[in-house]
Amino acid sequence: MLIKMTEFLKNLPIKKCTQCGKKFEEQHESYVHTCNNCSRIY
Ligand SMILES: [Zn+2]
Repeated sequence: MLIKMTEFLKNLPIKKCTQCGKKFEEQHESYVHTCNNCSRIY
């Protein structure tokens, strides 16, 4: 059961920054598509 849950979480789409391609380690707002580093340009 635990293995199946892990597999499920692994298969979730990883959210990545559209600027640098770095994956987010924290949950961002759904409308945010760039990491903190890239969003500083605004
Ligand atoms: Zn970025």
